[in-house]
Amino acid sequence: MCPNYQSKKRFGQNFLTDENIIQQIINIIDPQYVDNLVEIGPGRGALTERLLNFCPRLRTVEIDRDLVRSLKRKFEHYKNFSVVEGNALEINFSKNFGPLPIRIIGNLPYNISTPLIFHLIQHRHVIKDMLFMLQLEVVQRIHAKPNNKSYGRLTVMVQYFCEVFPMLNVPPGAFHPAPKVNSCFVRLLPRKQINPNAEDEQMLANVVTICFQQRRKTLRNSLRKFCPTPDAFFPAIDLNLRPDQISVKDYVYLSNRLTTLNLGLH
Ligand code: SAM
Repeated sequence: MCPNYQSKKRFGQNFLTDENIIQQIINIIDPQYVDNLVEIGPGRGALTERLLNFCPRLRTVEIDRDLVRSLKRKFEHYKNFSVVEGNALEINFSKNFGPLPIRIIGNLPYNISTPLIFHLIQHRHVIKDMLFMLQLEVVQRIHAKPNNKSYGRLTVMVQYFCEVFPMLNVPPGAFHPAPKVNSCFVRLLPRKQINPNAEDEQMLANVVTICFQQRRKTLRNSLRKFCPTPDAFFPAIDLNLRPDQISVKDYVYLSNRLTTLNLGLH
């Protein structure tokens, strides 16, 4: 790989350079011969290189044309390596990477990590698990419990679809250039069965968004956007509570009541 390569901020390029951390991450991924691995943002190949020694197939998606060129050169002797030049946000993961299921890994560009997680959740039926390096603050949010300041819209929507396992905290010094924030390697496991299930996932997204738009207001206040007299409709929930005080299951209850009653935003 070109030693003079200048990292590009717009692509969130903070390359992993700490050999010890890289090895710990590989151990967490624990690649198996049967795994169908897809890496998002292989960059200069820090994870890729080690994974290639384990897996019969490793496909990667990289947006940076210069890096794509160097990766092709670097791994030309590996028959199990391939790289697609493209934007992971636009890739149809359900179609392009059979045989299914796939395991998705990546030290993600932090500027797109949240939309990317939502994009991948849409393809969750073909994903066995996702192993990502994220900003520590994002991991705290997706892993939060109620009554915590990190608990919010992202928490509820990610935990509804996935189990979240923070695996390894990583300091800025493990990367080059060093990011300004701490990082965490996390495993997201799409739930095989969602229980209780939201009858209308868009309704769930709407109710969660509306409630967390007014974090300091009571649920009663926010739910007035759906119905004038919320107390009559949601007997199982204390509507004096604030949005960060109820569980994911409670949000599913609110959503399903709204669906049953055919109450949308007004
Ligand atoms: N995996 C390498 C490592 O750990 O050293 C690089 C990680 S770096 C944080 C993020 C990588 O994702 C960069 O190579 C960057 O070019 C790539 N990237 C950024 N945005 C992307 C996108 N939308 N789709 C695919 N790759 C992207």
